[in-house]
This record gives sequence, C-alpha cells and structure tokens, in this order.
Amino acid sequence: MSCISIGNGILCMANIDFVCPECHKMYSDSNDKYLNRCNKNRNNCTLIKCSCGQPFYMTYNYKGNAVSFLPLNQNADFITIVTQVDDE
Ligand SMILES: [Zn+2]
Repeated sequence: MSCISIGNGILCMANIDFVCPECHKMYSDSNDKYLNRCNKNRNNCTLIKCSCGQPFYMTYNYKGNAVSFLPLNQNADFITIVTQVDDE
C-alpha cells in the first residue's frame, strides 16, 4: 500500500501491480479491468492467460492488493498464493 499526503489527510492506494507466477511479467490493473472481472466471478478470481503460455489466477487480498497464483489443478477449490508483489 502506498500513501500520499493530501490536504488534511492521507490517501492510501492499493497495490494494483501483480506478476505472472511463471515468467514474472508485470501486469498493472490501472483501469480496474481485472478488478471488474474478479467481481463478476463467484470465487472473486479471474483467469489470465499470460503470453508465456502459463494461465494463472489473480485476485485482491484483504488489504486490497493484487495477488497472483497458480491453481493446484483445474478444479481446485483451494489455492496456493505463490507470488505477491511486495509493497513494503
Ligand atoms: Zn507468464
């Protein structure tokens, strides 16, 4: 999370960058395209087909930061987060 000072307060922006778990290509959800896709899905994740050929999922965690991960298998109910762009 990155914060900037505005007038009499602080505005914090969620980290909207995430990377492909396979090739680490950087994605940025700057126009909420992926966020909107997540919100449409029942599991709040969206599938992304990376140019490296590895499909992966991304979603937003409880802090509102974008995270990407690989499914354990095509029908997995639970998932393992393997990659996260660290905002610290
Ligand atoms: Zn990739």
